[in-house]
Amino acid sequence: MTAHSRLADTQKHSSNVNEAQPRERIELAAAYRLIAHYHLDDSIFTHISSRAPREEGEHAFLINPFGLRFDEVTASSLVTVDINGDILRDDHGAGINKAGFTIHSAVHAARPDVHCVLHTHTVAGVAISSMEEGILPLNQWSLQFHKRVAFHDYEGIALDLGERERLVADLGDRNVMILRNHGLLTCGRTVGEAFALMFNMERACRAQLAIMSSGGTPRLIDEALAEKTARQYEGWDEHQTGNKPDPQWDAFQRLAIKHYPDLVD
Ligand SMILES: [Zn+2]
Repeated sequence: MTAHSRLADTQKHSSNVNEAQPRERIELAAAYRLIAHYHLDDSIFTHISSRAPREEGEHAFLINPFGLRFDEVTASSLVTVDINGDILRDDHGAGINKAGFTIHSAVHAARPDVHCVLHTHTVAGVAISSMEEGILPLNQWSLQFHKRVAFHDYEGIALDLGERERLVADLGDRNVMILRNHGLLTCGRTVGEAFALMFNMERACRAQLAIMSSGGTPRLIDEALAEKTARQYEGWDEHQTGNKPDPQWDAFQRLAIKHYPDLVD
């Protein structure tokens, strides 16, 4: 079997197993497994949310059931909630961490263009979020975020109504945000876009920490070249929108289903 036919076979297999649950549920469950696979999860905390299938509610969202690790999330265990976090569908009866949904519901309510919101607490992301500089233009990964990162100041764990308003005002129309002294947040028009942004931002943070702790002299990329490269990334992103298949997200989903086939249950 050629590599191409193996790929086609894997994709066919993926689409076959996808039939049991709606595509929205499969993709979000895959994102949870991938975040765990790459060790970007934080026990049962942080969340990934995405728009629910239309038949589950007009303005409804999917989020992880409370108490499950990311590596335990399956398509059917995802809970459907409305914008207030009230439960519309919960097949396993686990409920949700309503406090944890507040960031997500605020973004979903303010940004109808956003399909998926992904939030992490990783050592690298928290470390960069704890530094004034944010992500520096040090390498190709980091340039995707050059002058495109929103910042939100830390206000403690509780998210009251006032902070939700400040958070979405700080986010504006940007798709990546550093929650200062706290972690990272990405927004995507698809689950795949939110995941890819987080995957890349995480690597940019890790590389920056490696550079800063190496003892070498950081070599910053100049403004004109940094801006040019950031626009090249945006051009690629635009190429990927619409109904075109996203080859990177397809590849990540094949990895998720290969290693964690029960995610589709
Ligand atoms: Zn958090």
